[in-house]
Amino acid sequence: MTLALYNTLSRRVEPFTPLAPPRVTLYTCGPTVWNYAHIGNFRTFLFEDLLRRYLVYSGYDAFHIMNLTDVDDRTIKAAAAAGKRLDEHTAPFVQAFFEDRDYLRIQPAHAYPRATTSVPAMVRLVERLLERGVAYKGEDGSIYFAIAKFATYGRLSRLDTRELKLGARVASDEYAKDDPRDFALWKKAEPADERVGAAWDAPFGRGRPGWHLECSAMSLEQIGQCCRTETLDIHAGGVDLIFPHHEDEIAQSEAATGQPFARYWLHGEFLNVRGTKMSKRFGNFLTARDLREQGVDAAAVRLLFWQTHYRKALDFTDEALAAAAVGVKRLGEFYERVKRETGNGNRHGRLAELAAKFETDFRSALDDDLNAPRACAALFQLVHDGNAALDAGASGAAAAIEVLDRAMGVLDILPTSKALDPALRSWVEERIAARDKARKAKDFKEADRIRAELLAKGVEIEDTPSGTKWRLV
Ligand code: AMP
Ligand code: ZN
Repeated sequence: MTLALYNTLSRRVEPFTPLAPPRVTLYTCGPTVWNYAHIGNFRTFLFEDLLRRYLVYSGYDAFHIMNLTDVDDRTIKAAAAAGKRLDEHTAPFVQAFFEDRDYLRIQPAHAYPRATTSVPAMVRLVERLLERGVAYKGEDGSIYFAIAKFATYGRLSRLDTRELKLGARVASDEYAKDDPRDFALWKKAEPADERVGAAWDAPFGRGRPGWHLECSAMSLEQIGQCCRTETLDIHAGGVDLIFPHHEDEIAQSEAATGQPFARYWLHGEFLNVRGTKMSKRFGNFLTARDLREQGVDAAAVRLLFWQTHYRKALDFTDEALAAAAVGVKRLGEFYERVKRETGNGNRHGRLAELAAKFETDFRSALDDDLNAPRACAALFQLVHDGNAALDAGASGAAAAIEVLDRAMGVLDILPTSKALDPALRSWVEERIAARDKARKAKDFKEADRIRAELLAKGVEIEDTPSGTKWRLV
């Protein structure tokens, strides 16, 4: 079997064939950096991490682009409320996003274009649309996309174009447009935009880009530079982006290039809290940093998310997270047990057979539209059967560990080793140095106090002729 993915465009699971294998161009809509991203946003980013890692596991060479939306209605409003300029307001949230990404073990994209530094590409795209007669200047001075001039509008979302509602981010004054369904490509600069530094000069008037335009321009610019193409292999995001965001991205891009914009459209379902979408607006959100501060292992968050298919809604509960943490611990113990057995290089035996069967199941699950719950079930079957086999003295650990390492390259859910936590390590080293200093100064009271301080954090020390050694207890 080969990889098949559910394509929102066709509403079917289709065999995946990229335009120019082994290369796969992947564009994922990134965070709006007006505030911290919540773990609902990260459910979508984690589904995209799974997708990208599985593409690589399957032998593809993925080029992953994720934009940062650092200018839109929300960022401008938030900057104004904080009394800051736009870039001043968004910079710490960009930084926080990268930290949260690393905590959750999401592999960095190959390119992170930012809207505010991609304005020339946006201006060029608007000019192309004006030249082709599919965009026009409204009475309010903003530039709009004329939906009536793009025959296939509505193909992705399958909305009857006569019933199209105004999207949340369409410029509000609909009377300035020829048709109320038309959306703004470029919004005329308002005093509120100027105050936070969110306005740029353009041949068609000073203003700022619409959110949909940003993604079209940034993705086309990136794939043009990297791969000399105007068609993405995969475009992904959360289900709430299908309409109007992705529908409008298709309209702008295809009307400008005359080429299909993206061949596969993948959408992840929501993370909910008691049946309601996790959202800043509803106040029912948790951020990744909340979890990190609570000492939650990112491996447990990943496993929790993998245990529900990306196209099914997932309800977040503390109990489910705690259960995932137990699963991660069991997996870690099994992994360490297998690892201990690898010393004698045994490649054959019952454990190797179980691992080979697991790998077949793992692949067929993920090939089937990234069925991670089935892949995880196969993994825990291996943990169960593998432990029993080891109890009976089975061999084959050297082969099994290779299979496990390959699977972890995709799922990445082994528990975080405290000993490897760089922050803990540097703290311990600093405390040991302070204790040495105290001992040299014959301040044994202070030295004992530091020893107790280390022990309180689970670190035991031992003084040896070659220096102080430490270990986690
Ligand atoms: P935003 O920062 O609002 O532009 O959203 C970033 C990404 O998070 C988009 O792909 C959204 O579709 C996605 N998203 C927003 N809320 C949720 C949620 N509760 N569950 C899953 N994905 C979400
Ligand atoms: Zn987008």
